[in-house]
Amino acid sequence: MNVTKENVVSINYTLKNDDGQVLDSSADGNPLVYLHGVGQIIPGLEKALEGKTKGEKVNVTIPPEEAYGPRNDQMIQTVPKSEFEDADTIEVGVQFQADTQAGPMIFTVIEVKDNDFVLDGNHPLAGMTLHFDVEVSDVRAATAEEISHGHVHGPGGHDH
Ligand code: ZN
Repeated sequence: MNVTKENVVSINYTLKNDDGQVLDSSADGNPLVYLHGVGQIIPGLEKALEGKTKGEKVNVTIPPEEAYGPRNDQMIQTVPKSEFEDADTIEVGVQFQADTQAGPMIFTVIEVKDNDFVLDGNHPLAGMTLHFDVEVSDVRAATAEEISHGHVHGPGGHDH
């Protein structure tokens, strides 16, 4: 079976930046399981995996436009410390999720000033070219229920 829209795909992967530094990887024996073709993973990786079969290895370089998009300086904002209950414990590098008009977003604290925090709402991997080493460890047809829910059930997936 080949990787195509609405198949459930299991992958082992390692993600590196341009310097060869490992940014992320699937855990040993614990592949990432996703529903192909519905935007659960970045477009460049979906494209690279299309048509592959179990056991195939893919080595792909993905530009920001097909990954997490370009960085946007307008997503950097200054917020008064007084808006945070736990301001004393927040330091540079801390990430948290906030509900915004555009949905939930991850913010990273990039600077701590006397009275303010400077927050970066860009995805941590925005603006980066990503290098993936991927091995397809399984491909199976999705169930009708998985397709209607838009996600995977069972091992590695949701239970509802
Ligand atoms: Zn479900």
